[in-house]
Amino acid sequence: MIITNIQRFCLQDGPGIRTTVFLKGCHLRCPWCSNPETQEREIQTSIDGDQIFGKEYSADEVFEIIKKDKTYYKNGGGVTFSGGEPIWWIDELIPLFEKIHKIGATIAVETTGSVPRPFYEKALPYIDYYLVDLKILVSKDAEKIRLDPNVYQKNIKWLLSKKCKLNFRTPLVPGFTFTKENIKLIKKFLSENNITELEVFETHEFGKQKYELLGRKMQHFSNLTKEDYNFLEKTLSPIKVKYLKW
Ligand code: SF4
Repeated sequence: MIITNIQRFCLQDGPGIRTTVFLKGCHLRCPWCSNPETQEREIQTSIDGDQIFGKEYSADEVFEIIKKDKTYYKNGGGVTFSGGEPIWWIDELIPLFEKIHKIGATIAVETTGSVPRPFYEKALPYIDYYLVDLKILVSKDAEKIRLDPNVYQKNIKWLLSKKCKLNFRTPLVPGFTFTKENIKLIKKFLSENNITELEVFETHEFGKQKYELLGRKMQHFSNLTKEDYNFLEKTLSPIKVKYLKW
């Protein structure tokens, strides 16, 4: 598998203390993406030739790194796979998942929810928590980031029917995820599926330098106004809105 980063002692990527593994490869193209170096599946070199994005690891090599923090994985902690879209690597990840469970750590994945179903079917026996993006349900806007809301919604309903633990996260991006139409659809979708909490966050520009190194320009998005937040909470009510800060 090709990994860009293995980050230790993470606290926002699932329960307890976690190690987060960032894998390369994502089928979406969100213009607010803070990890643009994870979009392409292949190893990349920066335009100045000085930096390499991604390194190939075997399951055993990743496990050797992960197990150094074994003592911190008590109280539900463990390993979170992020990216990119980690589910694309499911065949390579399964042997690693088995080793992680053997040391008593939990497995979480951050997923777009929009990979073809057979990938989620393979992952099902191994994943303890899903941190699921809930981005755009308005078809014409979802197309802009290459997302198919129908595939997404069917996958989520299927994961819920399998009693998976799902946490939903929405980046607040004006003109994309944050439109009146989309927030209303998000509310409808969450209510229909009996989801009572949504994590939201404003995007940031920490990834700006990585865009430049890849010869790309990061798009700038403005912050939400007080009125926007009022609209968000009022529309989503009674769903609990939890604000994440990075
Ligand atoms: S789904 Fe995540 S990794 Fe993929 S482009 Fe969007 S923000 Fe980036």
